[in-house]
Amino acid sequence: MAEIVLEGITKRYPDGALAVRDVNLTVGDGEFVILVGPSGCGKSTTLNMIAGLEDITDGTLRIGDQVVNEKAPKDRDIAMVFQSYALYPHMTVRENMGFALRLAKVDKATVKSKVEEAARILALTDHLDRKPANLSGGQRQRVAMGRAIVRNPKAFLMDEPLSNLDAKLRVQMRTQISRLQQSLGTTTVYVTHDQTEAMTLGDRVVVMRSGVVQQVGTPQHLYDA
Ligand code: ADP
Ligand code: ADP
Repeated sequence: MAEIVLEGITKRYPDGALAVRDVNLTVGDGEFVILVGPSGCGKSTTLNMIAGLEDITDGTLRIGDQVVNEKAPKDRDIAMVFQSYALYPHMTVRENMGFALRLAKVDKATVKSKVEEAARILALTDHLDRKPANLSGGQRQRVAMGRAIVRNPKAFLMDEPLSNLDAKLRVQMRTQISRLQQSLGTTTVYVTHDQTEAMTLGDRVVVMRSGVVQQVGTPQHLYDA
């Protein structure tokens, strides 16, 4: 686990667009922070810089006690869940969830126990031998999360993970994500444009607008006023 610290983080795309301007933010160890704001305000760009998927134009990014500006995504020890996370279609749920661990040469018994533990938390135990094509959207999204959590990353980054699900599933998955974060206590940054998610999921909400942080506060502080 680790805190994530953004100091003066700025992103200018090659075409000159200034997508993120001087963002200062500390996500505490084990904290769940929501980045919310209208389309185009710079949420995904900010998350992608934390993940290492976009270069940082200016500023300093720390994860734990390390400056990671120049580190490749795979060396940042974080897990990212996207809205349409591509599962491996030819692999079962069990194989999908254990894939990264097998690649890392983790022994079989440990892979099995980690995958089964994640499946239990995510209510996927009965689906471990199915293939993604035979799962519902919510189940697939849970497999994507399971695949991320078995690696025990320092942090989770989620970019609109629920936006492809129907309304009923979104409600279920909100509960699911809260459970998951509470039971694992992993530092999490979650991007959404959905006010309900912002109000219900996180410890703290960061409201962005036009590339800057406009407001930061607890959901109660921001939405009950
Ligand atoms: P959000 O996630 O809040 O919808 P983004 O971070 O995707 O916002 O985008 C922030 C701004 O940066 C927008 O003005 C967008 O058009 C611009 N932008 C995003 N990606 C690129 C890119 N690859 N090249 C140039 N501009 C981009
Ligand atoms: P119980 O422990 O008695 O199953 P819960 O409140 O944990 O009580 O679960 C209530 C229902 O939610 C049960 O049908 C259970 O299968 C389901 N459930 C339990 N854990 C999860 C989970 N992590 N995700 C989704 N559904 C779950």
